[in-house]
Amino acid sequence: MGNDWTERTKLVHAGARRSQYGEMSEAIFLTQGFVYPDAETAEARFIEAGEDEFIYARYGNPTVRMFEERMAALEGAEDAFATASGMAAVNAALFSQLRAGDHVVSAKALFGSCLFIVENLLPRFGVDVTFVEGTDLEAWQAAVRSNTKVFFLETMSNPTLEVIDIAGVARISKAAGACLVVDNVFATPIFQRSFALGADVVIYSATKHIDGQGRCLGGIVIGSRDFIRNTLEGYLKHTGGALSPFNAWVMLKGLETLDLRCRAQAASAAMLAEALVGHEKLNRVIYPGLPQHPQAELVRRQMETGGTMIAVDLKGGKTAAFRFLNALKIFLISNNLGDAKSLVTHPATTTHQRLSQTQRDSLGITDGLVRISVGLEGPQDLISDILSALDVGN
Ligand SMILES: *Cc1c(COP(=O)(O)O)cnc(C)c1O
Repeated sequence: MGNDWTERTKLVHAGARRSQYGEMSEAIFLTQGFVYPDAETAEARFIEAGEDEFIYARYGNPTVRMFEERMAALEGAEDAFATASGMAAVNAALFSQLRAGDHVVSAKALFGSCLFIVENLLPRFGVDVTFVEGTDLEAWQAAVRSNTKVFFLETMSNPTLEVIDIAGVARISKAAGACLVVDNVFATPIFQRSFALGADVVIYSATKHIDGQGRCLGGIVIGSRDFIRNTLEGYLKHTGGALSPFNAWVMLKGLETLDLRCRAQAASAAMLAEALVGHEKLNRVIYPGLPQHPQAELVRRQMETGGTMIAVDLKGGKTAAFRFLNALKIFLISNNLGDAKSLVTHPATTTHQRLSQTQRDSLGITDGLVRISVGLEGPQDLISDILSALDVGN
């Protein structure tokens, strides 16, 4: 339905299913099981379930299906499977297609839990991993082996907002016969069309911009019908990573306003970044929408805007960073992101605390680095709050 619709229309209508009551808003089918009129129907459904036929909510549910179809339509992909969290999506997208003896090439700048899966869990099951500098296409090429099965990356990266050339990595991945899995959370489905750029599988933590109002965990894996049904579904169905129907409904409602929220948040982020460039208390302002961003040219090609996230590196390290965080009045200290509420986090002591000093150094996570997720408040209030907090301790 609606393949020729623009994204904003898909976000509101794609995948809608209506019951016999003709409800306007999507219904919450808060049921884990389904009943059959007779034994023959049950038997037939276990052989093959049709489009509108469900067996058990771990396999699928009408409300969850609406969310899956809306996300697949938005991404321009054939199918999707929703999961209980973003990490359940990452886990399933990787483990469902890998086995002992396979090789994975991964960008080294990863969300903490993604890094744990790729660095600690995969090797435990006999999968070799090579980490590369994601922005260096030659490094991806050089890492390819005859048993390379998966390329994995996040762009923009967390927390230093490096941007990886998805189309460039996709060309190398295709030539190597590998499956390119892209975690597109930071860039959002609004600003970066990873599937169209050549990714084979796209993952979201719906917990972030898709909910966008701090309520539920959720995730989704998007890809071809063949991948979703013949590789992923069997793994997820039997390992229990299914999304709750209630949470799927919250995400559906989030999608209706996703475009408006992301655009408003990105516009404020751009204003804030511009107001901070050259500030005497900062070593660096990192925002992909700034002309001085190291991948500014790629950002123009690959992303519609600079996104909703900023990172700043304060002179004076941890002491200055903590003083700044504690002086903020509107920005809340939280490791979430993509929310209506503006949030700040100090990666070195929270999200990236587990990493060694050497790893943090190689990722540019300095003691003065603060990650900023720009929300929906008035942009002038946000700018004043940041500038006042930077002034504290003069
Ligand atoms: C938050 C996040 C995840 C994990 O999502 P959860 O919903 O918290 O499980 C994965 N990747 C990135 C880039 C994230 O920001």
